[in-house]
Order: sequence, then C-alpha cells, then structure tokens
Amino acid sequence: MTDTIKKPVTEKNSSAANDQKDNAVDPTRHSWFDRPVPGIKQQLTPTLTAVETEPSTECSSCHSMITNTALIFNCYVCPHCDHHLPMTARERLQWFLGQIDGELGQEFMAKDPLRFVDSKPYPQRMAEAQSKTGESEALIVLYGKLRNLEVVACAFDFRFMGGSMGSVVGDRFVEAAEKALAEKKPLVCFAASGGARMQEGLLSLMQMARTAAAVERLRIASVPYIVVLTNPVYGGVTASLAMLGDIHLAEPKAMIGFAGKRVIEQTVRETLEEPFQRAEFLLEHGVVDEVVHRHQMIDTIYRLLAKLCHAPNVNA
Ligand SMILES: [Zn+2]
Repeated sequence: MTDTIKKPVTEKNSSAANDQKDNAVDPTRHSWFDRPVPGIKQQLTPTLTAVETEPSTECSSCHSMITNTALIFNCYVCPHCDHHLPMTARERLQWFLGQIDGELGQEFMAKDPLRFVDSKPYPQRMAEAQSKTGESEALIVLYGKLRNLEVVACAFDFRFMGGSMGSVVGDRFVEAAEKALAEKKPLVCFAASGGARMQEGLLSLMQMARTAAAVERLRIASVPYIVVLTNPVYGGVTASLAMLGDIHLAEPKAMIGFAGKRVIEQTVRETLEEPFQRAEFLLEHGVVDEVVHRHQMIDTIYRLLAKLCHAPNVNA
C-alpha cells in the first residue's frame, strides 16, 4: 500500500517553496506594493495633462478644452470640431498682414455729446471697454503688406461694446478708405459688429452714410474693397460698409443679418429655421460670394486681390 498521506505543510518547507517561487523569473508578477487586488479600486497617482498645466480656452461649440498655444497655432479654429472661435481685431490683423507699416486713426477719441446714460454713463462704459480690451475703439486700422501687395486692412473688435459703430469707428473707416484711395491700395475689412452704437444716437447712424460714401469713392476709382464677414455682423454695419464690398467672403457658420431672429419672427409672425442668417444659408441665397475656412482665408484674399490689382501672383 502506497503512502497516500500527504506530508503536512510545515512552516519550514512552506517558506522553502516560496523562496523557490521567488527565485523563478515571472515577468507578469508585480511587486507587493503595486500588485492589483481584485475588488479594490486602485488609487492611481494623478498625472497632470497639458490642458491642466497650460492656460486653456473652452470651445463654445464642442466644449473641449484647448491650450491657448494650440489655439493660436491653429488660427483660433477648434482642432476637434472645426468651430471658428473669435479673434480680437489686433490678433486678426497681425495674422493677416505679413508686414505692418503703421496704424491709422489713433488720434480720434470718442465724445459724449448726448450725455447718454443707460444703466451707466457712456464715458464709464467706454473706459471699461478700453480697460477690458486694451484698445481705444472698436475698429483697428493697420496698413502694410500681404505678401507682395500693399494693403490697408481694418478689423472690428467685438469685445469692445459689441463692435458697435460710433463716430470714431466711422472716422477710422473713412481714414482707411481715404488712404486706400490716395495710394491706390486695396482695402480689406473684417467685420464683426452688433450694429450702430446707441449711446451716440443720430451721430452713429450718420456713420452709415459716411462709410457708404467712402466706399463709393473707392468704387469710382476702381480700388478693390473686400469684406470678410465674421461672426456676428448685424444692424447698421450690415446696412452700410459690410454689404458694399466688391466681394463678400464669410467665415463658416457666421451669423449675418440686419435685425436679429427674434425681432423678425415677431414682425413676420413665422418661425424661422436654424440655418437662417448663417453664412452658408446666405451663400445659397446670393448674399455672400464664398464661405471660406479661416485656414484658407489669407490665400483666398491674396488671390482675389492679385487678380483685381493686376499684380503678379507670387504663388503662381
Ligand atoms: Zn470644438
């Protein structure tokens, strides 16, 4: 009869067995400290991602967090959903012009002839807008070079009282148009505005006529004027300088109109569908000549201007 009784496991031979096991090389084995224990949630050491360590901006469309560095390199276009985020006027002009030779209209300062007070006095509102944006008014005019072409370019800053057009915006736009006219340089305007500035009453409405007259002088002299409609363009700016270009380009999904959707719905007593007043809708209806992605905007404007100015296209 064979001895089937198992040898009892003593402390001595158990530890010997374990030593043997420890000596064997097992690549799947974890050290005691990081050995996963089933049923117990592992406490992982938190690692900071780039988004947590760098200043970031949230995309208003897909709500992804994008580092500011990535955003600047991508021309403020969301790398996840292609949404075009707003650019400040100065950022846009610095991005657009390869060489900046000077700025126009800085001498114009807003006045308060109506002594206008809504929830706060107009001078106080202006001072707040100036300190928030670091700009003196809602329109910035720079001149310089776009590759081999000399151009005058202006851009609205929507952060400055909604890019509203008061007398200084009118002054600066006319100054830009006069320089373009005198030197036969094309004028490019990046529009982003809520309309005329109510705090200046009739004086702001008069800017519609002034700017329209300045554009007409450009047309008579055959000086090209290109408008880029960015999100949003409304009111008195739509009703004047933004719709009088030789060519109207628009950024994708930009909202463009005169009155807002709610006002029109109340007037015509109809419900208006979503693409209404979007750049793509206006393209289908002939208001806009082309909807251009921001990454192609400089190339597109350059090709158009080179053609209109009969200049050699350096890309050709
Ligand atoms: Zn996005």
